[in-house]
Amino acid sequence: MEKLKPLFNLDDLKAPVLSGNGLTGKDILSVGQFDKYTLDYIFTRAKEMQNMVEKVGGVDLLKGKVLACMFYEPSTRTSSSFIAAMERLGGSVIPITQGVQFSSVSKGETLADSIKVLEQYADVIVLRHPEIGSAQVAADSASVPVLNAGDGPGEHPTQALLDLFTIKEELGSLDGLTVSMVGDLRYGRTVHSLTKLLLKYNVKLRFVSPEILRLPLTVMNQVIDAGVDVRETHDVSDVIGNTDVLYVTRVQKERFTDLQQYEEVKDFYVITPEIMEKAKEKMVVMHPLPRVGEIDPAIDSDPRAAYFRQARNGMYIRMALLAGVLGRA
Ligand code: ASP
Repeated sequence: MEKLKPLFNLDDLKAPVLSGNGLTGKDILSVGQFDKYTLDYIFTRAKEMQNMVEKVGGVDLLKGKVLACMFYEPSTRTSSSFIAAMERLGGSVIPITQGVQFSSVSKGETLADSIKVLEQYADVIVLRHPEIGSAQVAADSASVPVLNAGDGPGEHPTQALLDLFTIKEELGSLDGLTVSMVGDLRYGRTVHSLTKLLLKYNVKLRFVSPEILRLPLTVMNQVIDAGVDVRETHDVSDVIGNTDVLYVTRVQKERFTDLQQYEEVKDFYVITPEIMEKAKEKMVVMHPLPRVGEIDPAIDSDPRAAYFRQARNGMYIRMALLAGVLGRA
């Protein structure tokens, strides 16, 4: 199987039909694999999935197919939305989502071996793992498609796809927007993946974080190389009035080696109704969830609060991806 090549070559842009065949058998490991054509294709398919679910709840597109959902780190939304996606398409799931204490990993099995065993039973594997690059390791030992559901502080490509899809759904377009990312930009893998995807569009980026949680240089250098209008600040009020998308994140406690340091920054930002008063009338507040205090629940009833709709969109995007990699688009 080809590894980490763009899912479509530029030549494929001439393909007459937007068939899912371009995704068939591919791993989804990093947002670097997607060009705009593929993104549009996935969003179109996700929209179809949404219409289908709203009309009939589910179909038999993936009947007979099995997904192994292997989560070495806690997850609620990502794992359950992948499971819901598979089941709404008529497939079934091996859910290894209770943590590794219940799996052979606790007996010392390597990731490569676990993957080689799982592919004996499953047609596609979704993996979450605490180490950067683990999804690539898994993909290297698998002959079935591997979907990266978060590799430590590295990437979370399917989250970035659902984030982009949500922006498009909520605001109609991705171009011309100012996107402000707030919170733990250092360890927040969803921020890393979303930032890289947004570089394909005509956007302005604002990064709001405490000093110790600034965006990693590797990602910032890509932003600078892309020539995007970018600014960093510690203060939400510097950006709120001009923001179209306020992307709020949790401080990633599990990545800190010094918990004292975590305590110092954990409550750095709380988005309150007072802050929302200074925001545009047409803007969206997003969050990959779970939130642990960064957004006051009083905002939940504000029509601009999109985070629960965002979570639902995750299911449609994952339906589109599973159908695509399994060649049943
Ligand atoms: N659910 C997201 C992730 O897995 C965000 C978070 O955990 O804060 O990265």
